[in-house]
Amino acid sequence: MKNRLVILALLVSVFGYSQETYNKTLKLMGSRFDFSVVASSQKQGDSFINSAITEISRIENLISSWDPNSQTSLINRNAGIKPVKVDKALFNLIERALKISKLTKGAFDISYASMDKIWKFDGTMTDIPSKEAIKNSVKKVGYQNIILDEQNQTVYLKLEGMKIGFGAIGKGYAADKAKALLMKKGVSAGIINASGDLNTWGKQPNGKDWMVAIVNPLNKNKVFSWLPVYNSAVVTSGNYEKYVKFNDVLYTHIIDPRTGYPATGILSVTIFTKTAELADALATSIFVMGKDTGLDFINQLNGVECIIIDNDNVIITSNNIELNTLKND
Ligand code: ADP
Ligand code: MG
Repeated sequence: MKNRLVILALLVSVFGYSQETYNKTLKLMGSRFDFSVVASSQKQGDSFINSAITEISRIENLISSWDPNSQTSLINRNAGIKPVKVDKALFNLIERALKISKLTKGAFDISYASMDKIWKFDGTMTDIPSKEAIKNSVKKVGYQNIILDEQNQTVYLKLEGMKIGFGAIGKGYAADKAKALLMKKGVSAGIINASGDLNTWGKQPNGKDWMVAIVNPLNKNKVFSWLPVYNSAVVTSGNYEKYVKFNDVLYTHIIDPRTGYPATGILSVTIFTKTAELADALATSIFVMGKDTGLDFINQLNGVECIIIDNDNVIITSNNIELNTLKND
């Protein structure tokens, strides 16, 4: 009896439900999301993707600093006033963000958000902010002033006017959570790609690893390398998507929280590691640290690799990445 069942199972797996990759693209968290899941029918694929979309919308409602009803906005509104009780998931996310701030000596800082008042990347800026304004803007920045109370599960921003935002970590976090949910549902393989912050699991239906394209930051239509990824995340941060230009100088959307000035010297950073959340945060951090310090830092971390492309279009890779077939044309 048992043998027969095994044979039946084998037959089903060979001839029965053949697995295919199903895709969907849509806008979530203000960004493009591409979902790919391996499933046995369009209907099943759609249903998997829909549950991932629901999960990401839930996260957006929690962490968006644009949505006045989110817990994050509640924290911001109560800056300098009182601690705010939040969901465990948000509390833990902030706790992890603070760890990365410590690790990067403040290059990464979710309280960068109060600087949004002077650096705007929506076309409304007409000139570079004054030195005075920049100096003032960093006064409210500082992860040391984000106070977590584990017991009461509260978050308190010590200074009035302080603000937190998850622009540099939220999409990675969402990709990880969507992946975790789908894995729990038994989805054997997939990719969640949040505008270049992606996480993968399993293999393609043909048994091969998923392939991820690394693009040339100077020409986004040109892929300069394809890399296989297995059960891990790849995140790219570039200076070419959100920036302002004055007198031919490009000011990017990643800002050094310690000076208030946009990071310079790097065109793009790609990070490879287990989770998209960590990769997302580290990609932003490396921008701020600069290529030398950034590379040194990555080489000291276990299980994290990077590709940096600097302003002169030179490709720099961490110790354990070999891109010998690469040509940056
Ligand atoms: P993208 O994926 O859009 O390139 P990143 O992951 O590089 O974005 O994050 C950039 C965003 O993070 C900015 O638009 C801003 O919201 C926020 N940010 C900017 N500078 C910092 C910083 N030093 N630390 C944390 N967040 C930052
Ligand atoms: Mg990031």
